[in-house]
Amino acid sequence: MTHIFHRTPRVPLQTAVRGEGCYLFDADGRRYFDGSGGAAVSCLGHGHPEVVAAVAAQVQRLAYAHTSFFTSEPAEQLADLLAGRSPAGLAHAYFVSSGSEAVETALKMARQYHVERGEAGRRHVVSRRQSYHGNTLGALAIGGNAGRRALYEPLLAEAHHVSPCFARHGRQAGESDAQYAERLADELEQKILALGPRTVSAFVAETVVGATAGAVAPVPGYFPRIRAVCERHGVLLILDEVMSGMGRTGTYHAFEQEGVVPDLLCLAKGLGGGYQPIGAVLAAARVVDAIVGGSGAFQHGHTYVGHPVACAAALAVQTVVERDGLVARVAELGRGLDARLRSRFGDHPHVGDIRGRGLFQAIELVRERDTGEPFDPALQVHARVKRAAQERGLLCYPAGGTIDGRRGDHVLLAPPYIASVGQLDEAVERLGEALDAVVRGLPA
Ligand code: PLP
Repeated sequence: MTHIFHRTPRVPLQTAVRGEGCYLFDADGRRYFDGSGGAAVSCLGHGHPEVVAAVAAQVQRLAYAHTSFFTSEPAEQLADLLAGRSPAGLAHAYFVSSGSEAVETALKMARQYHVERGEAGRRHVVSRRQSYHGNTLGALAIGGNAGRRALYEPLLAEAHHVSPCFARHGRQAGESDAQYAERLADELEQKILALGPRTVSAFVAETVVGATAGAVAPVPGYFPRIRAVCERHGVLLILDEVMSGMGRTGTYHAFEQEGVVPDLLCLAKGLGGGYQPIGAVLAAARVVDAIVGGSGAFQHGHTYVGHPVACAAALAVQTVVERDGLVARVAELGRGLDARLRSRFGDHPHVGDIRGRGLFQAIELVRERDTGEPFDPALQVHARVKRAAQERGLLCYPAGGTIDGRRGDHVLLAPPYIASVGQLDEAVERLGEALDAVVRGLPA
């Protein structure tokens, strides 16, 4: 009996003891292909010697210095690196320890930006129904995951949600991409107007939706229209790329495929690749200028902001990603993975959709392929597939997402950028075997 209080205490978990490349090993010596990189975290796989060496060297040199006295070399270098790879307007990095903290930080930066400009009435945040932005109270408030929210509702800030951009489930019959995007942008505008002019601080969205929907990219033209609405009403655009960022979708930032640049960008998972807990907010000059030129202090902070070892790990990860051309590799491997998924599941009676970008791909599990009817949520098909895959040596990231109030199951794959074509082929094969075994065992 472990004394660890984990999320599902009645479900015993294996003990992970070692990681090497794309594989994790448990205490019984079983090997698992890390097909989801944890949760889209382990972009460089496990035990990368250069990252390990950088972390060890930094711990020896300087493990910690409080940021009310100091910045540190790795934090400065990492900020330079991120600024150098981001659009010119997005040149300031604020480092935190997780994705939830990045989201909280962005919400507070947006709020303070408006206050500094004399618009203290801007207190509302609008986000989308199908989204996950983290588990702290502020991030949970704006997220759309009803299951995670329910227990905490009395504590959560008032949240304002609009429809997600999910063409498969949200587009009306006969509607073009442009018409769909226009309708969603109009919905956002109506929401802002209903809340009242000059009362909305920010609109928050995942560029490519991860956990709640399974690698759902927007239709072309969606974000430029959303951006235009935000601009018209003085609302900041916060993009959450905690899961989809840092090369995962085949471009360095996922928003590069959308033709917009956010005012605030939330990053985490792939930033440090799991070697250390680290997240970041990249902020536009206008946000930083308003705060620096106003009160002069961002009213925020945690003990471990800009932690030197976390920054050294992320710096090493990002240096390897750049040197080895891994973002381009993600784009190429992603095309192959997409093709492989289509050849294995394209005709599968229980796969309703195959989607994603780069090494961020999902299959949607359905009871009826032709009608798209989902499985009964009580069956927890996604969880069964996860278990069956793990028994076959594959780790994948399942969820029963709420699609605008309607349940659906999906399984997300987000393997390390260093995976080989052979490993990806085998992962798809294992996933197919797992799905088939689960379907065979379902009640008739
Ligand atoms: N935002 C998105 C899009 C996420 O996927 C997650 C985590 O899965 C978070 C925020 C929260 O990140 P963390 O779990 O590091 O707090």
